[in-house]
Amino acid sequence: MRITDALQFGKSKIHSDLAKILLADLLGKNPLELYVCLDEEIDEAIYTQYQREVDAIHNGTPIQYAMGHVNFYGREFYVNENVLIPRFETEEVVEKALSKIKEKFLDFHLKVLDIGCGSGVIGLTLKDKMKDLDVTLTDISEKALEVALANQEKLHLDVQIKKGDMLNDLAIEKFDIIISNPPYIREKEPIEEIVKNNEPSIALYAGEDGLLYYEQILRRASLYLKDKFLIVFEIGCEQKEAVTRLAEKYLTNIKIECFKDMQDRDRILVIENADIVG
Ligand code: GLN
Repeated sequence: MRITDALQFGKSKIHSDLAKILLADLLGKNPLELYVCLDEEIDEAIYTQYQREVDAIHNGTPIQYAMGHVNFYGREFYVNENVLIPRFETEEVVEKALSKIKEKFLDFHLKVLDIGCGSGVIGLTLKDKMKDLDVTLTDISEKALEVALANQEKLHLDVQIKKGDMLNDLAIEKFDIIISNPPYIREKEPIEEIVKNNEPSIALYAGEDGLLYYEQILRRASLYLKDKFLIVFEIGCEQKEAVTRLAEKYLTNIKIECFKDMQDRDRILVIENADIVG
Protein backbone atom coordinates (compact mmCIF):
# COMPACT_ATOMS: atom_id res chain seq x y z
CA MET A 1 0.00 0.00 0.00
CA ARG A 2 1.45 3.36 -1.05
CA ILE A 3 0.83 6.77 0.46
CA THR A 4 -1.12 7.82 -2.60
CA ASP A 5 -3.47 4.82 -2.28
CA ALA A 6 -3.96 5.48 1.41
CA LEU A 7 -4.90 9.10 0.73
CA GLN A 8 -7.29 7.92 -1.95
CA PHE A 9 -8.96 5.59 0.53
CA GLY A 10 -9.14 8.37 3.13
CA LYS A 11 -10.67 10.83 0.68
CA SER A 12 -13.42 8.38 -0.19
CA LYS A 13 -14.67 8.48 3.41
CA ILE A 14 -13.67 11.77 5.03
CA HIS A 15 -12.46 15.25 4.09
CA SER A 16 -9.12 14.99 2.29
CA ASP A 17 -7.45 17.44 4.70
CA LEU A 18 -8.33 15.20 7.64
CA ALA A 19 -7.03 12.14 5.79
CA LYS A 20 -3.73 13.93 5.22
CA ILE A 21 -3.48 14.95 8.85
CA LEU A 22 -4.11 11.40 10.07
CA LEU A 23 -1.66 9.78 7.70
CA ALA A 24 1.06 12.36 8.23
CA ASP A 25 0.67 11.98 12.01
CA LEU A 26 1.03 8.18 11.83
CA LEU A 27 4.08 8.47 9.58
CA GLY A 28 5.69 11.17 11.71
CA LYS A 29 5.63 13.58 8.80
CA ASN A 30 4.25 17.02 8.07
CA PRO A 31 1.02 16.83 5.95
CA LEU A 32 2.70 18.80 3.14
CA GLU A 33 5.58 16.34 2.99
CA LEU A 34 3.25 13.58 1.83
CA TYR A 35 3.25 14.99 -1.70
CA VAL A 36 6.93 14.41 -2.20
CA CYS A 37 6.69 10.74 -1.29
CA LEU A 38 3.38 9.62 -2.74
CA ASP A 39 4.85 6.34 -3.98
CA GLU A 40 6.43 5.38 -0.68
CA GLU A 41 5.15 2.08 0.76
CA ILE A 42 3.35 2.17 4.11
CA ASP A 43 3.91 -0.38 6.81
CA GLU A 44 0.87 -2.64 7.20
CA ALA A 45 0.34 -1.97 10.90
CA ILE A 46 0.33 1.77 10.23
CA TYR A 47 -2.12 1.38 7.40
CA THR A 48 -4.47 -0.66 9.60
CA GLN A 49 -4.34 2.03 12.28
CA TYR A 50 -4.96 4.70 9.62
CA GLN A 51 -8.02 2.82 8.36
CA ARG A 52 -9.31 2.58 11.91
CA GLU A 53 -8.93 6.34 12.40
CA VAL A 54 -10.52 7.17 9.04
CA ASP A 55 -13.49 4.95 9.89
CA ALA A 56 -13.84 6.50 13.34
CA ILE A 57 -14.02 10.00 11.85
CA HIS A 58 -16.40 8.75 9.17
CA ASN A 59 -18.61 7.51 11.99
CA GLY A 60 -18.67 10.89 13.75
CA THR A 61 -15.73 10.68 16.15
CA PRO A 62 -13.83 13.97 16.60
CA ILE A 63 -10.36 13.85 15.01
CA GLN A 64 -8.68 14.42 18.39
CA TYR A 65 -10.18 11.21 19.81
CA ALA A 66 -9.45 9.31 16.60
CA MET A 67 -5.79 10.30 16.77
CA GLY A 68 -5.65 9.92 20.54
CA HIS A 69 -3.66 13.05 21.16
CA VAL A 70 -3.72 16.83 20.85
CA ASN A 71 -1.18 19.58 20.96
CA PHE A 72 -1.70 21.96 23.87
CA TYR A 73 0.62 24.88 24.47
CA GLY A 74 3.32 23.19 22.42
CA ARG A 75 3.25 19.79 24.10
CA GLU A 76 1.47 16.61 23.07
CA PHE A 77 -1.22 15.26 25.42
CA TYR A 78 -3.15 11.99 25.23
CA VAL A 79 -6.91 12.34 25.02
CA ASN A 80 -9.74 9.86 24.78
CA GLU A 81 -13.52 9.89 25.07
CA ASN A 82 -13.28 10.11 28.86
CA VAL A 83 -11.91 13.64 28.84
CA LEU A 84 -12.91 16.94 27.33
CA ILE A 85 -10.97 17.83 24.18
CA PRO A 86 -8.75 20.75 25.21
CA ARG A 87 -9.75 24.01 23.54
CA PHE A 88 -7.70 26.97 22.26
CA GLU A 89 -9.41 29.21 24.81
CA THR A 90 -7.97 27.08 27.57
CA GLU A 91 -4.48 27.77 26.25
CA GLU A 92 -5.32 31.42 26.70
CA VAL A 93 -6.42 30.73 30.27
CA VAL A 94 -3.06 29.09 30.96
CA GLU A 95 -1.23 31.97 29.32
CA LYS A 96 -3.06 34.49 31.49
CA ALA A 97 -2.43 32.42 34.61
CA LEU A 98 1.31 32.31 33.86
CA SER A 99 1.51 36.07 33.39
CA LYS A 100 -0.59 36.77 36.50
CA ILE A 101 1.58 34.48 38.62
CA LYS A 102 4.72 36.28 37.45
CA GLU A 103 3.13 39.66 38.11
CA LYS A 104 1.80 38.89 41.56
CA PHE A 105 4.44 36.71 43.18
CA LEU A 106 8.18 37.06 43.54
CA ASP A 107 8.93 33.55 44.70
CA PHE A 108 7.40 30.83 42.54
CA HIS A 109 7.44 28.05 45.12
CA LEU A 110 3.66 28.21 45.13
CA LYS A 111 0.99 25.62 45.69
CA VAL A 112 -1.43 25.33 42.78
CA LEU A 113 -4.68 23.39 42.58
CA ASP A 114 -6.22 22.53 39.19
CA ILE A 115 -9.80 21.47 39.85
CA GLY A 116 -11.57 19.24 37.30
CA CYS A 117 -8.31 18.55 35.51
CA GLY A 118 -9.65 16.20 32.80
CA SER A 119 -6.66 15.29 30.64
CA GLY A 120 -4.52 17.48 32.88
CA VAL A 121 -3.65 20.12 30.30
CA ILE A 122 -3.93 23.10 32.64
CA GLY A 123 -2.05 21.83 35.70
CA LEU A 124 0.56 19.93 33.71
CA THR A 125 1.28 22.88 31.43
CA LEU A 126 1.71 25.21 34.41
CA LYS A 127 4.20 22.77 35.93
CA ASP A 128 5.96 22.34 32.60
CA LYS A 129 6.39 26.11 32.24
CA MET A 130 7.21 26.91 35.87
CA LYS A 131 9.11 24.07 37.50
CA ASP A 132 9.05 25.62 40.99
CA LEU A 133 5.27 25.30 41.25
CA ASP A 134 3.90 22.54 43.44
CA VAL A 135 0.86 21.43 41.45
CA THR A 136 -2.07 19.24 42.49
CA LEU A 137 -4.66 18.14 39.94
CA THR A 138 -8.05 16.69 40.86
CA ASP A 139 -11.00 15.25 39.01
CA ILE A 140 -14.04 13.27 40.09
CA SER A 141 -13.78 10.89 37.13
CA GLU A 142 -11.42 7.93 37.63
CA LYS A 143 -11.22 7.51 33.88
CA ALA A 144 -10.16 11.12 33.42
CA LEU A 145 -7.54 10.67 36.15
CA GLU A 146 -6.07 7.76 34.19
CA VAL A 147 -5.58 10.09 31.22
CA ALA A 148 -4.06 12.80 33.43
CA LEU A 149 -1.67 10.22 34.90
CA ALA A 150 -0.67 8.99 31.46
CA ASN A 151 0.07 12.58 30.47
CA GLN A 152 2.07 13.18 33.61
CA GLU A 153 4.22 10.16 32.74
CA LYS A 154 4.54 11.10 29.10
CA LEU A 155 5.73 14.59 30.00
CA HIS A 156 7.81 13.51 33.02
CA LEU A 157 6.28 16.07 35.34
CA ASP A 158 6.30 15.83 39.09
CA VAL A 159 2.75 16.71 40.23
CA GLN A 160 0.10 15.21 42.52
CA ILE A 161 -3.00 13.76 40.88
CA LYS A 162 -5.95 12.93 43.15
CA LYS A 163 -9.59 12.03 42.99
CA GLY A 164 -11.79 14.88 44.15
CA ASP A 165 -15.29 16.27 43.77
CA MET A 166 -14.51 19.98 43.40
CA LEU A 167 -13.64 21.21 46.92
CA ASN A 168 -16.38 19.15 48.54
CA ASP A 169 -14.25 16.26 49.73
CA LEU A 170 -10.69 17.52 49.52
CA ALA A 171 -8.61 17.38 52.71
CA ILE A 172 -8.00 20.94 53.86
CA GLU A 173 -4.71 22.27 52.61
CA LYS A 174 -3.79 25.87 51.75
CA PHE A 175 -3.03 26.87 48.17
CA ASP A 176 -1.73 30.06 46.62
CA ILE A 177 -3.54 29.46 43.37
CA ILE A 178 -6.75 27.71 42.37
CA ILE A 179 -7.33 27.30 38.66
CA SER A 180 -10.21 25.59 36.93
CA ASN A 181 -12.02 25.14 33.69
CA PRO A 182 -15.04 23.45 35.25
CA PRO A 183 -18.10 22.27 33.33
CA TYR A 184 -20.17 25.40 32.65
CA ILE A 185 -22.82 24.61 30.06
CA ARG A 186 -26.47 25.08 31.04
CA GLU A 187 -28.46 21.84 31.04
CA LYS A 188 -30.74 22.92 28.20
CA GLU A 189 -28.20 24.95 26.26
CA PRO A 190 -27.98 23.83 22.61
CA ILE A 191 -24.46 22.71 21.72
CA GLU A 192 -22.81 21.26 18.64
CA GLU A 193 -23.85 17.69 17.86
CA ILE A 194 -20.26 16.47 17.61
CA VAL A 195 -19.58 17.75 21.13
CA LYS A 196 -22.83 16.43 22.57
CA ASN A 197 -22.43 13.00 21.00
CA ASN A 198 -18.80 12.44 21.88
CA GLU A 199 -17.47 14.42 24.80
CA PRO A 200 -18.26 13.30 28.37
CA SER A 201 -21.39 15.08 29.60
CA ILE A 202 -19.91 15.14 33.11
CA ALA A 203 -17.20 17.47 31.74
CA LEU A 204 -19.68 19.78 30.01
CA TYR A 205 -22.84 20.38 31.98
CA ALA A 206 -23.27 22.35 35.17
CA GLY A 207 -26.90 22.36 36.25
CA GLU A 208 -29.76 24.53 35.11
CA ASP A 209 -27.79 27.79 35.10
CA GLY A 210 -24.31 26.49 34.26
CA LEU A 211 -22.96 27.91 37.52
CA LEU A 212 -23.09 24.86 39.75
CA TYR A 213 -19.35 24.21 39.89
CA TYR A 214 -18.24 27.83 40.20
CA GLU A 215 -20.48 28.01 43.23
CA GLN A 216 -19.18 24.73 44.66
CA ILE A 217 -15.61 25.98 44.32
CA LEU A 218 -16.21 29.52 45.55
CA ARG A 219 -18.28 28.66 48.59
CA ARG A 220 -15.41 26.61 50.04
CA ALA A 221 -12.50 28.43 48.43
CA SER A 222 -11.53 30.50 51.49
CA LEU A 223 -10.81 27.27 53.40
CA TYR A 224 -8.22 26.30 50.81
CA LEU A 225 -6.58 29.64 50.08
CA LYS A 226 -3.73 31.50 51.68
CA ASP A 227 -4.19 35.23 52.44
CA LYS A 228 -2.43 36.14 49.23
CA PHE A 229 -4.16 34.19 46.49
CA LEU A 230 -5.15 33.95 42.88
CA ILE A 231 -8.16 32.16 41.41
CA VAL A 232 -8.24 31.74 37.64
CA PHE A 233 -11.42 30.48 36.00
CA GLU A 234 -12.29 29.76 32.43
CA ILE A 235 -15.89 30.95 32.09
CA GLY A 236 -18.64 30.75 29.50
CA CYS A 237 -18.79 33.98 27.50
CA GLU A 238 -22.03 35.10 29.16
CA GLN A 239 -21.08 34.23 32.72
CA LYS A 240 -18.88 37.16 33.72
CA GLU A 241 -21.50 38.93 35.87
CA ALA A 242 -22.90 35.78 37.46
CA VAL A 243 -19.52 34.36 38.46
CA THR A 244 -18.42 37.80 39.71
CA ARG A 245 -21.52 37.90 41.92
CA LEU A 246 -20.74 34.45 43.29
CA ALA A 247 -17.17 35.46 44.07
CA GLU A 248 -18.42 38.55 45.90
CA LYS A 249 -20.92 36.48 47.83
CA TYR A 250 -18.36 34.03 49.20
CA LEU A 251 -15.11 35.98 49.37
CA THR A 252 -14.34 39.33 50.97
CA ASN A 253 -11.76 41.95 50.11
CA ILE A 254 -11.13 40.78 46.58
CA LYS A 255 -10.23 42.24 43.22
CA ILE A 256 -11.82 40.75 40.10
CA GLU A 257 -10.72 41.15 36.50
CA CYS A 258 -12.17 39.64 33.36
CA PHE A 259 -10.17 39.05 30.19
CA LYS A 260 -11.34 38.36 26.67
CA ASP A 261 -10.24 35.51 24.44
CA MET A 262 -8.92 36.03 20.91
CA GLN A 263 -12.47 36.08 19.63
CA ASP A 264 -13.24 39.00 21.91
CA ARG A 265 -15.46 37.01 24.26
CA ASP A 266 -15.31 37.26 28.07
CA ARG A 267 -13.54 34.08 28.98
CA ILE A 268 -11.07 34.37 31.81
CA LEU A 269 -11.99 35.55 35.29
CA VAL A 270 -9.17 36.32 37.68
CA ILE A 271 -10.06 36.78 41.34
CA GLU A 272 -7.38 37.75 43.81
CA ASN A 273 -7.03 39.17 47.28
CA ALA A 274 -7.09 42.94 47.21
CA ASP A 275 -3.70 44.34 48.19
CA ILE A 276 -2.98 43.95 51.85
CA VAL A 277 -2.51 47.51 53.10
CA GLY A 278 0.32 48.51 55.43
N1 GLN B 1 -9.22 21.05 32.63
C1 GLN B 1 -9.54 20.30 31.44
C2 GLN B 1 -9.49 21.21 30.23
O1 GLN B 1 -9.50 22.39 30.38
C3 GLN B 1 -10.88 19.62 31.57
C4 GLN B 1 -12.01 20.56 31.75
C5 GLN B 1 -13.35 19.86 31.92
O2 GLN B 1 -13.42 18.64 31.88
N2 GLN B 1 -14.38 20.63 32.11
O3 GLN B 1 -9.45 20.80 29.11
